[in-house]
Amino acid sequence: MIEIHHLTKRYGSFKAVDDIELVAQSGKITILLGPNGAGKSTTIKSIANLLKFEGNIQICGYDNGSIEAKRCFGYVPETPVLYDLLTVDEHIDFIGHAYQVENYKEKAQKYLELFHLTEKRKKMAKELSKGMTQKLSMLLAFMIEPKALLVDEPMVGLDPASIEETLKILRNIADEGCAVLISTHIIDIVSDIFDEAYIMKEGHIIQRIQKNELQEESLKDFFFELTEGK
Ligand code: ADP
Ligand code: MG
Repeated sequence: MIEIHHLTKRYGSFKAVDDIELVAQSGKITILLGPNGAGKSTTIKSIANLLKFEGNIQICGYDNGSIEAKRCFGYVPETPVLYDLLTVDEHIDFIGHAYQVENYKEKAQKYLELFHLTEKRKKMAKELSKGMTQKLSMLLAFMIEPKALLVDEPMVGLDPASIEETLKILRNIADEGCAVLISTHIIDIVSDIFDEAYIMKEGHIIQRIQKNELQEESLKDFFFELTEGK
């Protein structure tokens, strides 16, 4: 579970995130949906403790700055952060050892196959296409079997088939009990798989909605009514 209380993030005098509350439940896919500049990445980076912020964030019941919290979450940044000169296998070894994942090779193998990366194992990160670096970045976050998973705009740079694969994998990870939090500005992609959505605009959460509360209306209609005031 991820719990955010009174999160505010200022860049200078500008409040990119203004006193938000959010809970991403274990076993559920929670989405943070909003237009560019809404504050989604700032929220995700605050959860990952990569920014100084005001407020309180707990991951699996631990303060997000603690080593216990760091052990239990995976983070897929908006732009993959990889080592140019390390191969796919070397990235897997590095993360497997850093997180002390048991049988990490087996766990990585499953995702290498799902992401069709098996033949790329000996390639250096700098030799991979953009989509492949995104997949490797996801694989590294998934293979630690996180209890909480932060995924920032995961579909950007992926082809339609890879998007489908990724959504299925994220659903499976949630079904195994992980709290999955996905940020995106692309409603269509997440409208089928989300369990709960937080709609964000100009640093505020302007609505929280569960899938079963939507009834006939699509998430898209709901979103545009809220954000465009139609
Ligand atoms: P989103 O991910 O929803 O597109 P961001 O969280 O990246 O939005 O950005 C929210 C707001 O904060 C934007 O207005 C952006 O310009 C601003 N912002 C983001 N990062 C910085 C930074 N490092 N310094 C100053 N302003 C920033
Ligand atoms: Mg962003």
